[in-house]
Amino acid sequence: MSAKEIPARPRTQSEWELLRRFYRWMAPYKKRLLVAVAIVPLMALCTVAQPRLLGLAIDDYMLRGDIDGLNWIALAFLGLAVGEYLLAATHTWLLGTVGAWAIGDLRRDVYQHIMTQGQRFFDRRPTGRLLSRTTSDVEALGESFFTGVVGILADAARLIAIVVMMLSLDPWLTVVSFSVLPAIAIVVNWFRKRLRDYSVKIRVLVAKLNGFIQEHLAGIDVVQLMGREADAADEFRAINREALTTYHWSNFYDAALYAVMDGMSSICIGVVVWYGGSLVWGDAITPGLLVAFVDYVQKALVPVKEFSAKYATMQRSFAAMDRITELLDTDESIASGNQTLSGQSNTVVFDRVTFSYPGVSEPVLSDISFRVKPGSVVALVGSTGAGKSTVCRLLTRAYAGYEGSIQLSGKELSSISETDLRRVMAIVPQDIFLFGASARFNLAFDDAVTDEELLQTLELVQARKFIEALPDGLSTDLGEGGGRLSLGQAQLLSLARAMARDAEIVVLDEATASVDPATEILIQQAIDRIFSLKTVVVVAHRLSTIRAADLILVMERGRIVERGDHTSLLASGGRYAELHHQLETGGEEHKAVPLPASA
Ligand code: ADP
Repeated sequence: MSAKEIPARPRTQSEWELLRRFYRWMAPYKKRLLVAVAIVPLMALCTVAQPRLLGLAIDDYMLRGDIDGLNWIALAFLGLAVGEYLLAATHTWLLGTVGAWAIGDLRRDVYQHIMTQGQRFFDRRPTGRLLSRTTSDVEALGESFFTGVVGILADAARLIAIVVMMLSLDPWLTVVSFSVLPAIAIVVNWFRKRLRDYSVKIRVLVAKLNGFIQEHLAGIDVVQLMGREADAADEFRAINREALTTYHWSNFYDAALYAVMDGMSSICIGVVVWYGGSLVWGDAITPGLLVAFVDYVQKALVPVKEFSAKYATMQRSFAAMDRITELLDTDESIASGNQTLSGQSNTVVFDRVTFSYPGVSEPVLSDISFRVKPGSVVALVGSTGAGKSTVCRLLTRAYAGYEGSIQLSGKELSSISETDLRRVMAIVPQDIFLFGASARFNLAFDDAVTDEELLQTLELVQARKFIEALPDGLSTDLGEGGGRLSLGQAQLLSLARAMARDAEIVVLDEATASVDPATEILIQQAIDRIFSLKTVVVVAHRLSTIRAADLILVMERGRIVERGDHTSLLASGGRYAELHHQLETGGEEHKAVPLPASA
């Protein structure tokens, strides 16, 4: 559960740096952005003109009984008010569209960046965190950037305009009007701090709740089988109660803050009326000017009151930007070259390959050398943790950074273009993954392959019958994670997927999950077909698979300890003979041989 909490990470980049970087996504919509920014001073002008007009209306027209002039002033006032609203609406609309597009582009870029990363990138980042980067962080940025960053800029423009106007009208009254401001700022800040602490606490608790629910739903079988429902419910209740208490306090401070703020504003206006009133009495200022000042103070207090909320929003958006750019900055994609491969007759060569996983000092593979001739089958056998899957991962370029050399047709793996490598090599991973989509999509994605071709491929691996037996054949939705299929059927489909690619080389990490004997025979036959048609590197768990291989490599603790074909290896009576004996007598037992290999 705690693994799912997102620890707060201090921001590493300055606001300016982040703004400069984020501008890249707004640049395509520069024109709209410029218009939106240009509207800001116009709005500020409309804001400051209104109280002034009100003052003039009182002094020059109302008090003198000039009704005609008053009508004109009222009309001008109306014009300004309508103008301000129209400008504000345009401003919001423009920013909204720029924001939506920029955020859409950003989301696309983050997703593409993640998609091109090597396996090492994913080892270090849990899927949940990547998910929140692409969804909630980007979303948070979209929501908070314009209200926070741009909102503060617009407020600042308005505030500056008001203060300049007030100073030009009466500097001394301006100073008195804002004399209470420092007190307001201190009180508001105190409340905000409390509120912020609570909102951080709420976020942590919500993450905790979500993590808890997610984990218990995923492991519901285990929770129920172990009879842990009541304990889990207790634990959940405790976290929920804590969250609730925190919400209560947060609400309390929120309500108190607004009450205090309104009270303080009234005091502020009271001071203006009291002091300004005495000035009017002494004929130092006109009544209209006093009314205008009251209006100015009211207008100025709005952004002041909202400042800390907007500031917090702005900080949130900077934090999201920082996390997103941090992700974009880590590029662990594996370099590919532009060398091409022929579609056929590619020899695979491992030449003294040594490899350690990132962050692990001990090598998991040491001095691995072997050659796979076109059309041959090389089987990797050995106890769990020996490094067999790692050989496959290097060959399929899921990891880079090995010593020695891995070549395809004499070309170093890293120099081969991505498209060519994927065209020539198909992979059947040990953990079968099926999309919650049609059988057709699972076999060929969106490639242009006819149903007839797919069915022929399925025939090759004996999967045609059961696919055709599905209600909609190839178009049948296989359900989440392929839940509609049995384990054996999923294995067959995964083999078919590799065959549908029409690749020359198949890297096959045999599934270890056992299936019913009838399906087992189908799978064996399918694998035999693949062996007869393709160049294969296979991590083998079945005796039949191993026996059919042209070359068997026996691995222990990251090294090849024996090599040869089945008969010669058996005859030599070494580690292979031992493994073979275990397989023959105990089926899957060899997987349980004691073996903390290279770690
Ligand atoms: P096998 O396929 O023979 O069972 P693997 O190649 O999967 O063995 O693993 C070999 C060793 O490498 C094991 O000790 C395993 O713990 C370690 N290992 C596997 N994947 C990683 C990884 N991503 N990071 C660090 N160590 C790993």
